[in-house]
Amino acid sequence: MAKVYYEKDGDLKNLAGKTVAIIGYGSQGHAHALNLRDSGVKVIVGLPASSASRAKAQKEKLEVVEPAEAARRGDLIVVLIPDPVQAEVYKYAIAPHLGAGKTLVFAHGFNIHFKFIVPPPSVDVIMIAPKSPGHRMRELFKEGIGVPALLAVEQDASGKAVETALAYARGVGSLKAGVIRTTFKEETETDLFGEQTVLCGGVSALIARAFETLVAAGYQPEIAYFECLHELKLIVDLIYQGGIKYMRYSVSDTAEYGDYTRGPVVIDAHVEATMKKILADIQSGAFAKEWMEENRQGRKRFLEMRAGAADHPIEKVGTELRNMMPWIQTSKEEATAAQAQARR
Ligand code: NAD
Ligand code: MG
Repeated sequence: MAKVYYEKDGDLKNLAGKTVAIIGYGSQGHAHALNLRDSGVKVIVGLPASSASRAKAQKEKLEVVEPAEAARRGDLIVVLIPDPVQAEVYKYAIAPHLGAGKTLVFAHGFNIHFKFIVPPPSVDVIMIAPKSPGHRMRELFKEGIGVPALLAVEQDASGKAVETALAYARGVGSLKAGVIRTTFKEETETDLFGEQTVLCGGVSALIARAFETLVAAGYQPEIAYFECLHELKLIVDLIYQGGIKYMRYSVSDTAEYGDYTRGPVVIDAHVEATMKKILADIQSGAFAKEWMEENRQGRKRFLEMRAGAADHPIEKVGTELRNMMPWIQTSKEEATAAQAQARR
């Protein structure tokens, strides 16, 4: 069984007198900063003068300084900026201020595991990776509930890296739910594999191919949308609540029989072989290298794919149908943000 830590395992005293410098104030950054502050930890935020996030952090009465200044003052330096820019910011703002007694904290292992960032041996390198988007993590914290997280230690120069990581996990609220021990390698490789084959890549492609199959066969796009996309949430909610077995208990026997007999035909041995190939590309670093190269070259291909996918007929029919169901759009602000993201 995996090692799991709870509240009794983490002591905030291990952060007493220390300053936590949160670099970045986006999805994860704001949640870590505010949860730690509300747990009584001294927090400062590092953002460039040009950053639009500055105003948000200042509104919360957090002290905001340049990333390099935050790294200089922080005992813990928490890297919560997008993965593709971390190495560059590390080089100019963080590396010059590292030394014995400092701890580098990550929420995802990508840059450390693939060695785009190589910290000096004198610092502790830890990860607390909450298994939740930052906004949900903050909301639940305010309700007195924590989100689960993963904990890993890559370098333990001080001999106290685990205690520091557990104190941090307590401060952000995650020990309330439980924190699972992992490694930078395991977290990074499984995270990439999960998002590529199931969560983002696999699911999106499955929905799109099924929608296209029905529309090409002459069925109405509206009906195809409901059957192949909209209802997915109902199914996923059941799986999330009680596992695949509970979903099968809840659907009709006809659906369950179709599941057993047709599921393995769609996701066949060929798909399994492809998954192994995708995993091998993750493990070898080929995917990481490709993605960093795409970023270095200005993300042209990435932005073309984003625009192309946003033009798919399923998005047009989806926009129309969701307007019939305003209750599924959580807030106007979020809907506007999602539309802006789609146009970018
Ligand atoms: P984000 O895109 O929401 O936040 C970006 C923040 O970084 C913003 O405040 C932005 O102003 C700042 N920033 C961008 N470029 C910068 C630069 N060059 N210099 C300084 N600041 C810069 O990022 P996120 O989704 O919170 O991801 C942060 C880390 O957390 C990543 O390692 C990610 O893998 C990890 N993570 C994210 C989630 C999630 O739900 N979003 C979950 C777990 C782990
Ligand atoms: Mg993930």
